[in-house]
Amino acid sequence: EHEQYQEQTPGSAALAEDLGELVPAGVCSTYRAYDPYPVHAERATGTTIHDVDGNEYLDFALNNGTQLVGHTHPALSEATKEQIDDGTLYTRPSDLIEFAAQPLIDRWEAIEQVRFTNSGTESVMHSMRLARAATGREKIIRMEGAYHGAHDPALVSKMPPLDQAGPANNPTPIRESRGIPESVPENILLAQYNDAASVERLLRTHEDEVAGILVEPACFNLGVVEPEDGFLHRLRELADEFGAVLIFDEVKTGAKIAPGGGAEYYGVQPDLVALAKAIGGGYPVGAFGGKRELMELVAADLEKGVATGAAHYGTYNGNPLSLRAVGVTLREILTDDAYDHVTELSERLADGYRDVMADADIDGYVVTAGSQGMVYFTDERVRTFRDWEHVDEEFHEAYWFGMLNRGVIPHPHDASQQWTISVQHTTDEIDTHIDAFADLATHLSD
Ligand code: PMP
Repeated sequence: EHEQYQEQTPGSAALAEDLGELVPAGVCSTYRAYDPYPVHAERATGTTIHDVDGNEYLDFALNNGTQLVGHTHPALSEATKEQIDDGTLYTRPSDLIEFAAQPLIDRWEAIEQVRFTNSGTESVMHSMRLARAATGREKIIRMEGAYHGAHDPALVSKMPPLDQAGPANNPTPIRESRGIPESVPENILLAQYNDAASVERLLRTHEDEVAGILVEPACFNLGVVEPEDGFLHRLRELADEFGAVLIFDEVKTGAKIAPGGGAEYYGVQPDLVALAKAIGGGYPVGAFGGKRELMELVAADLEKGVATGAAHYGTYNGNPLSLRAVGVTLREILTDDAYDHVTELSERLADGYRDVMADADIDGYVVTAGSQGMVYFTDERVRTFRDWEHVDEEFHEAYWFGMLNRGVIPHPHDASQQWTISVQHTTDEIDTHIDAFADLATHLSD
C-alpha cells in the first residue's frame, strides 16, 4: 500500500522535502509527520481534502474532530467573514463573550463560569493550576497513556514504551520529551484508566497531597476507550472523599459525543471541564470552566504583589473571531438534529465495518460514541493503556494507507485516534467509506 501511495502523491513527496528544509520535519506540530510523508493539502472544503496532486479524499479525520461542523461550513464562514470586517482582535470585553460562554454554561451542568483560551493545552494547563490553587496541594493524578496537551506535566507517560514503563500497578513516570525538567514527574501520580482502585491507592498513599484527578471521560488518545460501568462515578466519589478536584479533559469529547460532552454522555459531572477543538468549529479556541466557587479564584489577582488567585492571562484569549466561531458553532450548527444526524451515520459506519470484518474474517472490533468511532484490529478489547500492546499496528498501518489510496482518510493516521462524522457527511459518503474498506479487505485478508 505504501508503494501505491507514493505513486499517487509525488507532489506531496516533493513538497515534504522542500518544507523539511524550512521547518523541522516539514510540519508545524510534530505529530503530523509520518512515514513516508503526509498528504499535503491544497485546501479543504465540506467533507473533502484536496491535495497538491489533485487527489480528493473524503475526510473523516477532520483535524481530530475540530471540524464536527465539516470544513467551510457556510454559516460559520459567513459569520467569521463578517467578524473579520468588524475586527479580529480588540482586547476589550464585548457581548461576544456572552454569545460564546452561554452555550457552554447551558450544555455542562458543571460549568457555571468559563474562561476562554486558545488551545486544549492551555485549557488543561489552567485547570491544573486552578485545582492546585484551590486545594493548596501540588500533585495531580493522571492516567498512564493519556494525552493532555503539549505542556511539561502533560508529557509525562503520554504513551511510554512498555519495556520502560514498569508494572501496571506502579508505573514509572516517563518524560516524553527532552527539555522537561527532572522535577516535573514529582508532582504527577500515574493511575490506570478504568481502574478506580489504582486511583484510590494513590489518594490513600498521598493523603492531603492530591490537588486533582485529571481524566478524559473516554480515553480518546487510545482510540475510543469508554469508561466501564461505575468508573467515572467512583472517581467522583473519591475526589469528594479526598478533597481533590475532578477535572474532565473534554478537549476531544466535548460537544462531540453529546452536546454536553462526556459529562452528559456518561452522566457524571466533574468540578472542572477543559475544552477546545469542536467547540470552535475549526477556529483556534479553548475554554475551561466549572463551579462559581472555583472559577472565582481566577478573578482574584494580586494584593500588594502577592498572588491571591489562579493566574489566567493571554493576548488572544477570547478574541472576537474565535468567540464568534464558538457562538455560531454551538448555537446554530450543532443543534439536537445535528447530533442525531452524526450519531446515526457513525453507527451506520460502525455496522458497515462490522459486516466487512465478519465477511473477510478480520480480527477486531468497532466502538462508537456519538459522532466518534474507531476500529481496532485486535482480538482483545482495549480497556487500559496496557492493553494497547494487543493492537496489530502493522495491520493498522496497511489499513490506513489502503484507505488513503482509495480516497478516504478514515481518521488521523494511527490507531490511537478515532473517526469524526461531521454534520456535512451524507449517507452516501458513509457507504463510500464502507465500500472502500470492503475493497481493501479483500487485499488485507490475502
Ligand atoms: N487534551 C486532549 C485529550 C487532547 O486530545 C489534546 C489534543 N489532541 C489536547 C488536550 C491538547 O489540545 P491542543 O492540541 O488544542 O493544545
